[in-house]
Amino acid sequence: MSELDERGGDLAVPDGWTYAPAPESRDVVRLRERYGHFVGGEWLEPSETYETLAPRDEERLAVVGQGTEADVDRAVGAARAAYADGWSALPGPERAKYLFRIARILQERAREFAVLESLNGGKPIKESRDVDLPLAAAHFFYYAGWADKLEYAFPNRRPQPVGVAGQIIPWNFPLLMLAWKVAPALACGNTVVLKPAETTPLTALLFCDVLRQAELPPGVVNIVTGDGRTGAALVEHDGVDKIAFTGSTEVGKAIQRRLAGSDKRLTLELGGKAANVVFDDCALDQAVEGIVNGIYFNQGHVCCAGSRLLVQESIYEPLVEKLKRRLETLRVGDPLDKNTDVGAINSRAQLERIEELVASGREEGAEIYQPPCTLPEQGYWFAPTVFTNVAQSYRIAQEEIFGPVLSVLTFRTPDEAVEKANNTPYGLSAGIWTEKGSRILWMAQRLRAGVVWANTFNRFDPTSPFGGYKESGFGREGGLHGLEPYLDFGDSEAFGG
Ligand code: NDP
Repeated sequence: MSELDERGGDLAVPDGWTYAPAPESRDVVRLRERYGHFVGGEWLEPSETYETLAPRDEERLAVVGQGTEADVDRAVGAARAAYADGWSALPGPERAKYLFRIARILQERAREFAVLESLNGGKPIKESRDVDLPLAAAHFFYYAGWADKLEYAFPNRRPQPVGVAGQIIPWNFPLLMLAWKVAPALACGNTVVLKPAETTPLTALLFCDVLRQAELPPGVVNIVTGDGRTGAALVEHDGVDKIAFTGSTEVGKAIQRRLAGSDKRLTLELGGKAANVVFDDCALDQAVEGIVNGIYFNQGHVCCAGSRLLVQESIYEPLVEKLKRRLETLRVGDPLDKNTDVGAINSRAQLERIEELVASGREEGAEIYQPPCTLPEQGYWFAPTVFTNVAQSYRIAQEEIFGPVLSVLTFRTPDEAVEKANNTPYGLSAGIWTEKGSRILWMAQRLRAGVVWANTFNRFDPTSPFGGYKESGFGREGGLHGLEPYLDFGDSEAFGG
């Protein structure tokens, strides 16, 4: 027997490999007890308030303002004054300097922002750290690059800023959605009033500190926190020239009805029910990783999540078996633990919505699978879920669940895959898994979706436009296209309103 074998024989062999806790320290975040609205570069004391919670354990994190019509009015007034007082006329290279500064400060303070994002929103720290923060900074860098090149971006069209932009964002990517909205607006010379989602105001409030650090002129960005009533007040305000909204299709439709006939511009980025289409010639293990990333990333709180899995019949059984095995390895738990794959559900209301839709799936006859996992007792949690035996008519195949719930359907031919994939009122994104480039192109031409990923899923880049068809909204964010809604060319309307 070799020396090595002898030594190996003495070692205790563990009977089960587990991950030791790896919590990220929250000391890096200094929360204030109470926050006001950020208006004209100052903190405005709110007349009404509410408490914002940590979804992992319902810990009360801070008291924040519930913006009233008067608060929104002051914020719009500050934005208008800043627009007129010089921001709109500032040369592009000067605007770019501020955006570059913001981007660099976000990078420097990335850990602080990532911890706060996970604390207030429930998403795993590895996602806040590796996705949300780098992408938020990248958006500011990218649009900083355009600020002095608008004439080159739109030759012979004399691009001018639109004015005051009212921006309403959801709770699934709080800081990243802020970056998607604020960066192009400022690059084009507009000023902004932004309303974060009710449940996730804290990174937007911390961002005000970045604005001060970057010495952005007061009033260029104003942040008013609150619930839907605050958003509605912003939509209604006569001093706002453009509304950019990301959220549910229901609220998006209400905003569109409200603005019909007005000269306010509007872009809507709404819900989705993306098909992730897996052909039998795909790399199966790679596809399983893509499926998992497509639906369990950010607890499925993703408008472009691959929530409908369409599998070619010939590989249905091996794929579902591999998928279930992979699900068993997902670690559900504390968002601040660096090993966590699936964090907390954002709010009690969202948890109830997921539970209601999952119950409807069972009742309609779908077969449910959830891997064995122990969910924490406090806070809002839902186990990763797969439904098989799903018919196209079931609610779980039609409605946006916005949670870690996958519905699996099958198809036989590419034509059938296209038909089923397009059988939805939405049209935000889709995925294709196949080894054939020609099939990717054939499918991409036929899928009615704003974004089509091939052999990958949920990849984002500031240079790439993002937006939907049908009930997923209109207008594009990101890339060159993302500048247009914030520009007036004098000769054409950018996007409908
Ligand atoms: P909402 O559409 O209500 O929220 C999006 C944003 O709009 C929030 O800031 C919200 O404020 C604000 N808002 C709400 N009502 C109004 C109004 N009348 N006028 C102007 N602004 C308003 O989404 P929910 O948070 O209620 O989520 C419900 C469902 O919507 C989810 O289950 C999911 O299916 C879908 N959704 C889709 C998103 C996407 O990116 N496509 C994002 C979020 C949700 P407040 O936070 O106070 O409600």
